[in-house]
Amino acid sequence: MAYVCELGTGQRIYLDNQGTQTVVTVSSGGQGQQQQSSSSFTTGQWTSSPEVFQTPQGAIIKITTNQGEHNIQIQGNSIGVTSRASEGGGQRMQVQQTSSTSASSGFSMPPMEPMKPMEPMEPMKPMKMGDMEMSMNPMQMRMGNMQMNMGSTSQPIRRFCSQCGATIEPSDRFCSHCGHRLS
Ligand SMILES: [Zn+2]
Repeated sequence: MAYVCELGTGQRIYLDNQGTQTVVTVSSGGQGQQQQSSSSFTTGQWTSSPEVFQTPQGAIIKITTNQGEHNIQIQGNSIGVTSRASEGGGQRMQVQQTSSTSASSGFSMPPMEPMKPMEPMEPMKPMKMGDMEMSMNPMQMRMGNMQMNMGSTSQPIRRFCSQCGATIEPSDRFCSHCGHRLS
């Protein structure tokens, strides 16, 4: 179970006991300009709820575990273990249980919109780029004087003039379009 403590300074302290680790997260600032720093200390398992005391410099967290008492000092965004007794000074702050272990989830985030389903692809239109043409069904591709037919075996194999690209019959000796002599 994690705990959260709001300091009057706008800082928020998150405490979590993960195994024998105490994870301390300090977040400050509002949404958008939020600063957050996190440290973890080997303290042992908590035997009681953590206590937080606000001090002029920041806060001192008192952790009681099966390994004894630990004091963690927070100054600004720096988190460190201190031997200073927490009872000496400072105001005891209210520590609340929270299901949140992350400071950022303390702020309400707009729920993610579900992804729109992909729109079905439009059937491919004949495409033309420069001297390249492509069309589907049957797949044909034409680049300059070169033409490729794919997926269609019913069409007779056509030839093209190497000079101008016009369609020629296999029996033609000369291109009917430009007169180029065909090999
Ligand atoms: Zn020709």
